Amino acid sequence: MSETTINWLAEVEKRKEELVRTTQEFLRIKSVLDESTVREGAPFGEGIRRALDFALQVCADAGMATKVVEGYAGHAEFGAGEELIGILSHVDVVPEGDGWSSPPYAAEIVDGRIVARGALDDKGPAMAAIFAARIVKELGLPLSKRVRLIFGTDEETLWRCMKRYFETEEMPAMGFSPDADFPLIYAEKGLTHLVWRQTRDAFLQQGLPARPHPDARLLRLNAGLRMNMVPDRARAELQAAGRPAAGIAEQYRCFLREQGRIGEATVEGDRVVLAMEGVSVHGMDPSKGVNAGTWLVHFLAQLDLDERAAQFVRFTETYLHEEHYGEALGIAHTDPEMGPLTVNTGVIRYEAEGDAAFDINIRYPHSQPFEKWEPIVLGRLKEAGFVQEIEDHMTPHRVDPSHPLVTTLQRVYAKQTGEEATLIAIGGATYGRSLHVGVAFGPLFPGRADCAHQRDEHILIEDLVRATAIYAEAIYELAK
Ligand SMILES: [Zn+2]
Repeated sequence: MSETTINWLAEVEKRKEELVRTTQEFLRIKSVLDESTVREGAPFGEGIRRALDFALQVCADAGMATKVVEGYAGHAEFGAGEELIGILSHVDVVPEGDGWSSPPYAAEIVDGRIVARGALDDKGPAMAAIFAARIVKELGLPLSKRVRLIFGTDEETLWRCMKRYFETEEMPAMGFSPDADFPLIYAEKGLTHLVWRQTRDAFLQQGLPARPHPDARLLRLNAGLRMNMVPDRARAELQAAGRPAAGIAEQYRCFLREQGRIGEATVEGDRVVLAMEGVSVHGMDPSKGVNAGTWLVHFLAQLDLDERAAQFVRFTETYLHEEHYGEALGIAHTDPEMGPLTVNTGVIRYEAEGDAAFDINIRYPHSQPFEKWEPIVLGRLKEAGFVQEIEDHMTPHRVDPSHPLVTTLQRVYAKQTGEEATLIAIGGATYGRSLHVGVAFGPLFPGRADCAHQRDEHILIEDLVRATAIYAEAIYELAK
């Protein structure tokens, strides 16, 4: 078959039923990081390992050679030649959260879309890549390069999967990752996962005077699950002191009404429990969400609290509440190509008898380097008696727009969609940066709402099919 006669979309349509069914089966495996089932060969738990095995089995059934790398990652390979083309997706998903209108691991089809955690990020696209590779293989097209589908298992947390994988496995000459947006992302911000922590001892060492008659003592506060998500739930527990618990509860209800926020206050003896609901979105653009944690702290700022809580509240209120771009911290910067530096407060923890800590996700453009803004942050933290731990740091990533990888993918996208394949720079990080020469390519088409990491995550079957056709031609064009 000559390449000019291949109707890629028709090839996918022939396999559509199987593509949808296999994607549904894949999505029914709950592949959330699970420390309780970690074992040798399953470093992130049983669910993720089962998802990895499932993906590799679909590849093996199509005649690809598969390999598992200690359960951290796996790959499936076909084709022949020196050079290696990589397609990198991930089988792990973020926790489902609450409020779904159909069960998050049922993968039901609703209005032409598959609804499930991971449908868009990234198990749907991973299956699209597998079927795309299968089509290239089944058409028997001659290839001068090897093609490797690589599956990671820890993209949603610390990328330990790719760190381990590339310690022993070959780095592809170039490749793409179907884990973001079409047309094509060639430049990504630097990304940090920072923990800002104050131990109780560190607070006591400041020798601040105790407040004589605080309204209440803050016993604990918890918000958020992950540094890269905006918290949609927060809870604080107070012990009333200078004022009755019922009065504090009433003040909170008033605050909720005035601010148009959702939450509730419950009183048990001298204890008041305050709950706040927010809107969880990806930490890449926290201005699009509502941070339940910082909004709850915003209320606490109205109270006269014990000295340690007061300091914690002041810090949060000043530097983090509705401070999505680090203005108050003094690190705000907007790059004309890559956009603004962003600050997401993903997790807040406060224990009267333990630590106070924030999990912070700062994303920054190449024109505002880490070396420039980090000292400013450290200065602010020092003033407040906090220290910083760097959990993860990835520097900005960029592939030259004239590189054959970029131009080939642009050509394929334009041909299949009839749309111009404009290049995108983003708040990263996409998985594409795990490859030395890697870009993100789909699966979200322009104009589609990004529901990754949100309730009712879904992928339109029509889009799954279109993406598969684009990936099939892309794989062939890169490897022919
Ligand atoms: Zn992803």
